Amino acid sequence: MRSEPPRLRVDPIACTAHGLCAELLPERVRLDDWGYPIVDGAPLEPELVAHARRAAAACPTLALKLEAGAGARATTRSTR
Ligand code: SF4
Repeated sequence: MRSEPPRLRVDPIACTAHGLCAELLPERVRLDDWGYPIVDGAPLEPELVAHARRAAAACPTLALKLEAGAGARATTRSTR
């Protein structure tokens, strides 16, 4: 089974509107009038996944996250 590509998500509580994510990933992040990021949550194109991971790692508050796609989640097993 092929897993779906990851999706971008922003934790609005943790985000402090640095705007770094929009600089690092302008293809998928734009800023609103107050400097908060707007992401559409659609699956990332494969060529953008590495850039998205870099943007998430660079977020000073760890508010930008990559969520596994639906297929990946469905195949994840508990190890307990
Ligand atoms: S880099 Fe992080 S804190 Fe800054 S705007 Fe993006 S998500 Fe928010």
